[in-house]
Amino acid sequence: MCRGNKIIIACGSKFSNCEKKKRRDNLNQNFKLEEFGQVKYLKCRPLDNTNLVINTFTTRLGGVSKYPFHSLNTSYNVDDKESCVTENRKIITNILGINYRYIVSARQIHKDKITVVKKEDKGRGALKYSDALAETDALITNIPGIPLLMCYADCVPIFILDPVKKAIGLIHSGGRGTELQITSKALDKMQKIFGTNPQSCLAAIFPSIGPCCYKIKNQNQINDYWTNKNNFSHKIFSIQNENERSLDLKKANYLQLIKGGIEKKNIFINEICTADCPELFFSYRRDKGKTGRMAAIFMLK
Ligand SMILES: [Zn+2]
Repeated sequence: MCRGNKIIIACGSKFSNCEKKKRRDNLNQNFKLEEFGQVKYLKCRPLDNTNLVINTFTTRLGGVSKYPFHSLNTSYNVDDKESCVTENRKIITNILGINYRYIVSARQIHKDKITVVKKEDKGRGALKYSDALAETDALITNIPGIPLLMCYADCVPIFILDPVKKAIGLIHSGGRGTELQITSKALDKMQKIFGTNPQSCLAAIFPSIGPCCYKIKNQNQINDYWTNKNNFSHKIFSIQNENERSLDLKKANYLQLIKGGIEKKNIFINEICTADCPELFFSYRRDKGKTGRMAAIFMLK
């Protein structure tokens, strides 16, 4: 749960005190919640410490949108006013010291297309949804000064930095994207396009819905991905009771990064569950679809 400004691990009842403390300490060490006036946003410290990138995951706080998008909704693709979304994007990019007109974002469709962002894409989707990069759920680039922006409300935000070739990847991976292994594919594509060696990469996984709240009642809706031993099913799939299965999206995407060759010590996971934190985060599941979106923003300096 989140209480006030303090970030405490969600769904603590599942963990022992010792485990809770370990996880909380890990959070404090690898993620920080920054504040500027009413605006609050997260950063991954190890990514920040490279001084190569700007990395941020926004919360819902500090924007101008009204219910049910209150208040820092960053997506043009919900029924919020376009002017409010632009203002919200200005608010956060001003704080980060980047130009909101340079943002590149995508029309996300829960599939596995990965787009290589080029210089001429600068500004695609910055001011309106219609010119965002089409049908894309991952953006990769080696061009400095282009802020990649993807929108989330429960799906998993994954950041990959190759500090050697100076390339980045930003992934939107929900249930469907995870099953299509978009995270594995984005890492593969970075290898092909930029010559990335996964062993030198850093990766961050920001808040998403946790296994505590991502439960599936209809067993027919469970893709084979989750029960396949090759995908470490025992770590990502659990039977809650006769009628309920629980899926761990974060862990599944983490395991795709590991399988792709990124070292454990170089992957930083924020364990907060978006559905458990109405004070800080929009949640598609919790809010039954009527809600705003947080933004992941990732830019090479
Ligand atoms: Zn939860």
